[in-house]
Amino acid sequence: MNCEEAKKLMDGYLDGELDPITNQKIEQHLRECPECDQAYKAHRAFIGAVRNGAPYYEAPPKLRERIQLSLREQTAKEPVRNVAGDAPSFAPSARQTTQTAPSGTKWSLLALAAGIIVAAIVALNFMPQSRRPGDDQFLATQLIASHARSLLANHLTDVPSSDQHTVKPWLDAKLDFAPAIAELSSEGFPLIGGRLDYLDNRPVAALVYGRRKHFINLFIWPAAADVKRTPETMSRQGYQLLHWADSDFNYWAVSDVNINDLQSFKQKFEAQTSRH
Ligand SMILES: [Zn+2]
Repeated sequence: MNCEEAKKLMDGYLDGELDPITNQKIEQHLRECPECDQAYKAHRAFIGAVRNGAPYYEAPPKLRERIQLSLREQTAKEPVRNVAGDAPSFAPSARQTTQTAPSGTKWSLLALAAGIIVAAIVALNFMPQSRRPGDDQFLATQLIASHARSLLANHLTDVPSSDQHTVKPWLDAKLDFAPAIAELSSEGFPLIGGRLDYLDNRPVAALVYGRRKHFINLFIWPAAADVKRTPETMSRQGYQLLHWADSDFNYWAVSDVNINDLQSFKQKFEAQTSRH
C-alpha cells in the first residue's frame, strides 16, 4: 500500500468500515510511514474530540411514542389545509384568510415538539453515562481485525498448548487479572493455546480453540460495572461474534464457525468455568 491509497482509505479505517485484510495493510503502512501515521493520529484525535464533546443520545422508544402521539393529537385538531395554495386564484381575500390559521398551528406544533426534545435532552443528561451505541461497533471491528490478524500473521498463540495448566499460569503472569480457562476437547472444542492481545485500550487474554478446521478466538478482560449481561450476537464481514459477561469478565468469542457452534461453545465454556 502506498501513501495515496492509505490516505484514501483513512476515513474508512477510522470508521471501522474496512475488511480485516485492508485494515491490516493500512496498519502495516502506518507502522512504516511516519507521515501517514501522523495524519492518522491527528485525524483520530479530531474524531475523539468531536465524539467526546458532542453527546449522542438515542431517544428511548417511550419518548418517541409520546412525541408522535402529541403530534397526532395536534394534527387532528388542525383545520384542513388549503393545499391549492399555488393555483391562480381570482379571490385573493378568501385565500389569505385560509392561510393564516394553519401557519399559526404549525408554529405551535414545532414549539411543542421542541419543548419535548429539550425536556428529553435535560432528562437524558442526568442519566448515568453508559457506553455509546457506536462503541460496540468499533469494538466489533477491532475484535474481527484481531481474530483475522492472528490467523493471517501466523500468530495464533504465544503459548501453544492444549493443557490449561500450561496456558493459565502463562497468561496470569502477563496480565493483571486471571481469566478462567475451560478444557473442552471432549466437547469438540480443543484448546490450542493462549495469546496476549490489546483491545478496548487494555491488554486482554485471547484463548484459542479449534472447531473442526476452524478457530475460535475467545477474548477475555475484566468487566466494567455497567457491562450488559445479556448475551449479544453480531454477524459482520463473514465472522460471527458472541458477547457475554459474568460478574467478573467480559467475553467476546469471534470465529467463522456458524452461530450455533459459537452458542454451544459459550454454554460449554460457562458450564465448566462456573464450577471453579
Ligand atoms: Zn504513507
